[in-house]
Amino acid sequence: TNNAFVGFPSSTQPTFLKRRRILGGKWGNQDMAIISSQNQSPEPKRRRGAAEKAASPPRGGGVGGEGSPEMKPRNSGLLKGEATQDEQDKNQLEEGIRPKSLAEYIGQKDLKQVLEIGIAAAKSRGEPLDHLLLYGPPGLGKTTMAVILATEMGVSCKITTAPALERPRDIVGLLVNLQPGDVLFIDEIHRLSRMTEEILYPAMEDGRVDITIGKGSSARMRSLPLHPFTLVGATTKVGALTSPLRDRFGLIQRLRFYEAEELTQVVLRTASILQIAINEPGAAEIARRARGTPRIANRLLKRVRDYAQVKAPGEITNEVAAAALELFQVDFWGLDWTDRRLLTVMIENFNGGPVGLETLAAATGEDAQTIEEVYEPYLLQVGLLNRTHRGRIATPTAWKHLGYKPPEAQLSLFADK
Ligand code: ADP
Repeated sequence: TNNAFVGFPSSTQPTFLKRRRILGGKWGNQDMAIISSQNQSPEPKRRRGAAEKAASPPRGGGVGGEGSPEMKPRNSGLLKGEATQDEQDKNQLEEGIRPKSLAEYIGQKDLKQVLEIGIAAAKSRGEPLDHLLLYGPPGLGKTTMAVILATEMGVSCKITTAPALERPRDIVGLLVNLQPGDVLFIDEIHRLSRMTEEILYPAMEDGRVDITIGKGSSARMRSLPLHPFTLVGATTKVGALTSPLRDRFGLIQRLRFYEAEELTQVVLRTASILQIAINEPGAAEIARRARGTPRIANRLLKRVRDYAQVKAPGEITNEVAAAALELFQVDFWGLDWTDRRLLTVMIENFNGGPVGLETLAAATGEDAQTIEEVYEPYLLQVGLLNRTHRGRIATPTAWKHLGYKPPEAQLSLFADK
């Protein structure tokens, strides 16, 4: 099969399974698969202290329930950029709306320019692209870009995620099966185990894997040559990458939150694929509330479609979109229940801050990592929250947005800056 493990005795062959059939034959002739280790434990072992803090993935919705006296509204996962379990079941649908070429990929102008040059240069030299690290909050289009790169280069894309590469043989199996020029996409690359990382270094740099065969005194090292390939790593936390790994990427690119106009285009594009009748102001209303994130824009569009089907048949206008999203408790700024709760707790319990991340997590019943990677980036971006060395601060804008009067001390704190 595609994942046959060549050059090893059968007892050492890794078993891969396709966890989600994301392609459904829709991605042209490209040979792509999502691959993961069969014995993947639900909670990867913590090996590296702080760097492995990320071992339990941010899991939006359910996390906050415990320790939090208040019930969360059911739709509180609506604004997460990451894919929840529920979402993964809907992956098939998501694949249909994923852009398939650079031309279809909306926004991220700088990134696209850099990659267009990279692709043209690599093609003219007949070489694969440089290894590429993409970082930014979930849902901004990192996976999409990796798949597009493979398509543009005319090669396959193998998609996996760091927690699925627990054992060294998982990564070795993947590497030796890559065809010349293939793209290997590793999501959440900051969560790789140290051993897996060490196998990757010579693979990225010299195109070989070093493996040990046998045990004890009869153990020998063997080097296996690999076909040239491109590693595309994605992470929400570029700072959590070890520097030897980071240094081996030829290109390191940040994905930005999308402008409202760009997200309007995303909504209109998805609506046309899903045959949803919507006018431009309707799309703009959804875009404005989507926290600069295409995945969220698409998700909100589907909720609005449901609402329109039941309550307001016909074309989705801005009034319909606004009414639907109010119902789902997504406010004008795109803040959901959890965002508002984080800010409210900061204001009510800590007089606006500064408050440490762990304290905030404990006080809200949210997971610290989820706050840091999922909620905070957007709140920082729109200027509702600030990070200082003493902790997080709710800005005067946040006080006002939530209907509080900012205290003088808070105002002067910001005036000083
Ligand atoms: P990430 O890997 O960064 O978490 P994905 O690549 O999975 O994000 O993107 C999430 C969804 O958002 C995709 O299914 C795709 O439909 C949509 N999307 C992402 N980027 C774009 C873009 N630039 N243009 C249009 N749709 C996009």
